[in-house]
Amino acid sequence: MDGTTPQMFAIEKSPNPVAAEAREAILANPGFGRVFTDHMATIRYTDERGWHDAKIEPRRPLAVDPATTVLHYAQEIFEGLKAYRLPDGGATLFRPLANARRFRKSAIRLAMPELPEELFVQSVHALVSTDRDWIPSGDGASLYLRPFLIADEVFLGVKPSHSYLYCVIACPVGAYFKGGAPSVTIWVSDTYTRAAPGGTGEAKCGGNYAASLVAQAEASREGCDQVVFLDAVERRYIEELGGMNVFFVFEDGSLQTPPLGGTILPGITRDSLITRARGMGLTVREEAYSIDQWQEDARSGRLREAFACGTAAVVTPIGHVKGKRHNFAIGNGGAGDVTQRLKDALIQIQLGLADDPNGWRDRVF
Ligand SMILES: *Cc1c(COP(=O)(O)O)cnc(C)c1O
Repeated sequence: MDGTTPQMFAIEKSPNPVAAEAREAILANPGFGRVFTDHMATIRYTDERGWHDAKIEPRRPLAVDPATTVLHYAQEIFEGLKAYRLPDGGATLFRPLANARRFRKSAIRLAMPELPEELFVQSVHALVSTDRDWIPSGDGASLYLRPFLIADEVFLGVKPSHSYLYCVIACPVGAYFKGGAPSVTIWVSDTYTRAAPGGTGEAKCGGNYAASLVAQAEASREGCDQVVFLDAVERRYIEELGGMNVFFVFEDGSLQTPPLGGTILPGITRDSLITRARGMGLTVREEAYSIDQWQEDARSGRLREAFACGTAAVVTPIGHVKGKRHNFAIGNGGAGDVTQRLKDALIQIQLGLADDPNGWRDRVF
């Protein structure tokens, strides 16, 4: 099958879906990442057959042999995107083609086969359609989709696998932070880095997260919510948080964010905010910014706001920064005006409550 052939997903309905009443109770208070829908999408890949056997099937445990390569050498990539309930009862995705493209690029970096972008988008549409009753409509709620690809050859050799399993699972989620957007406190990691030039920093792979957990644990011990990583070469420039990109807002209303360049994950929220901010007439620079400069500017008042962004939490103000050599507050410690305006603008587009000048919504039904 090539990338241009529409692929029909065979649909096997779950014989025992969650009862409507129980589902409604879950949707009223879904939390984040612990309850899942009734179905999943799967596609198999082998070197001989290419992509084949595309299915929507009941969600169930995967049977993996203990020697399956992904368990040993972490040949795995993933994506994260959301389906939103529209005011008319329909549902929309936000820029799924951008996720499909990034998934393909991550695959190239991890020596995995590239899933055709069309097939990625179709898999997500098919799952959202099948599990349409699982899309919550509460404030800040959505259906989070997690496509991933694992190497599933049974073999303990260090080389790219010859077979793979692609899978999409879905979970209803509520607002990442309850009660709007309190600010987060972040920890500057002097000990650990996330990504080095030539490494896997711009690929969305599980291994990056595995390597970041010890820093996240350090942050928690220090009373912080998240880690901010510095560049691995000079240990001076801000890169990003463990799973979110970062923006700075200055007193003249301009914005700045670290430039992509191999070590930073190219966030779709990051890209969308740059586009919307420029559309609103704001200046956005993609330029390196050092941790020392950040502290100096926060103290002098030249820097007014800072926020983290990503699909899961959308836009989250950074209120305080701590580290072995740093300790400073930002603005009044809450959401600044520019942060709030950008956040609202993006959410209105995602929920179908505002015009969509860039054609980012992709209606499922
Ligand atoms: C997924 C991710 C982001 C955010 O990307 P979005 O496309 O905006 O969700 C940022 N940093 C890392 C390390 C990520 O894995």
